[in-house]
Amino acid sequence: MRVLHEIVSEAVTGFRNLLFPGVCLSCGQPSVEGLELLCPFCKENSFDEANPFRTNTCPGVILPAILEYQFAMWRYDKGGSLQRLLHNIKYNGLGRLGFELGCLLGERLRNCPAVSGYLNSGMSMLLVPVPLHPRRKRMRGFNQAELIAMGISSVTGIPVADDTAVSRSRYTRTQTGFSLLARNSNMAGAFQLEDEQALAGKHLMLVDDVFTTGATTYALATCLREAAPEGMGVVTIAYAP
Ligand SMILES: [Zn+2]
Repeated sequence: MRVLHEIVSEAVTGFRNLLFPGVCLSCGQPSVEGLELLCPFCKENSFDEANPFRTNTCPGVILPAILEYQFAMWRYDKGGSLQRLLHNIKYNGLGRLGFELGCLLGERLRNCPAVSGYLNSGMSMLLVPVPLHPRRKRMRGFNQAELIAMGISSVTGIPVADDTAVSRSRYTRTQTGFSLLARNSNMAGAFQLEDEQALAGKHLMLVDDVFTTGATTYALATCLREAAPEGMGVVTIAYAP
């Protein structure tokens, strides 16, 4: 007679295979084990590193003084496989992929000297996902930046800020196609500090899916500065120069 947990485990595996048929979402090879959505090969080799020299910014990025580092894992490939993956997280409900990429990003952060110093410093740190407007979050069902932050958290142990700490107070238009100037003015005042106490005196690691011109991050950092954090930096899955 089979024990109950074996029967349950078989049922779970069957259900999982139905949802995730064990095919890598990037290369389509049937080599993915368990709940992984990307195969180990793609995680290591399919995308270009955005910060190959592991310095405190990706090449060409000039940060405002309020941010101490900007780290991105991969270089954005317009029209390519990475763009498709990131699109799937946002619009096709593949939230799990956001978590999985967040885990990978967390590991890369530990291997980047410009960031790992903060992780090893013992200072009080907090991951702050770039908030979505509540209406957009309702439509999408989740905030992809939160899922990425949860992945980073599971690897680094840094807690994720409660989504009540800072909010998106304006429903901003999508920024695709905007000039840098238009992006900055579109984002100015888009965020509202809700809980200063939760953020004060901590090192805040801002989390988003893609870093493009930095307009969104800079607007959020400007807002968070009012809570007097110990310092701030930004980490993303991709950098789109
Ligand atoms: Zn693959």
